Amino acid sequence: MTVYPQLPQVAVFDTSFHQSLPEHAYRYAVPEHLYRDHGVRRYGFHGTSHRYVSHRAAEIAGLSIGDSSWLSAHLGNGCSTCAIVDGQSRDTSMGLTPLEGLAMGTRSGDIDPNLHSHLASTLGWSLEEITRVLNSESGLKGLSGLSNDMRALEQAREQGHPGATLAIEVFCYRLAKSLAAMSCALPQLDGLIFTGGIGENSPLIRSKTVAHLKLFDLAIDKEANARCIRGIAGPIHKYGHTRILVVPTNEERQIALDTLALLN
Ligand code: AMP
Repeated sequence: MTVYPQLPQVAVFDTSFHQSLPEHAYRYAVPEHLYRDHGVRRYGFHGTSHRYVSHRAAEIAGLSIGDSSWLSAHLGNGCSTCAIVDGQSRDTSMGLTPLEGLAMGTRSGDIDPNLHSHLASTLGWSLEEITRVLNSESGLKGLSGLSNDMRALEQAREQGHPGATLAIEVFCYRLAKSLAAMSCALPQLDGLIFTGGIGENSPLIRSKTVAHLKLFDLAIDKEANARCIRGIAGPIHKYGHTRILVVPTNEERQIALDTLALLN
């Protein structure tokens, strides 16, 4: 601002898309003053990505974003799900911090909140140590004992590595459970969107997740699923079943579009 005083500065927040969450979705069941005085509530993250891919999904499906309902799974090193109705976020799996929700690369996602006191009293761990382990040593890395990289885990699973196999099973089951939970926010389901490094590139993770969601009439077309990798977008559902789309995310483009809209 000192060097270029005329240059407008735009900040695009990953949480802003989730400002449309209804109160029953963003409040925790904790004493009210923690919310009122200390901002303890669910904020959600990955908003730029969920917003971008839901718009793209509506375009691909030939539907209006303002009149359609989507479940979105952003699966990168960080992972989250989102329920999007008429272009607005209505629920999402991350919370006050990005630790809530799905099992991720190195984050545990949801755990029993009493785990903190259990680890402190049984192992004598400090709050800092517990926070570090849940954020940096857990998730795929912790479960597999091998890696937080899904490519490495898929290879190891092929060779029968039990930790990698378990990590993938937990990842997909937890993801399916979260998507089922997100469906509570939808009036109907126009489609499920996969995005992020894993969502865009892993036919295995997509098919294993969808296999847990048969009650939603979701079924995968094997060939289409195998084809949609490395930036290829498109439908991967079986004909006559609920829409499933692979949509490469483009947060940079969404930020540029937001910036343009603000400058205009
Ligand atoms: P991101 O944070 O969106 O860049 O995603 C990173 C994650 O995507 C890592 O866990 C990678 O292992 C995963 N990923 C990238 N390419 C592939 C692939 N071909 N198959 C499986 N996972 C992949």
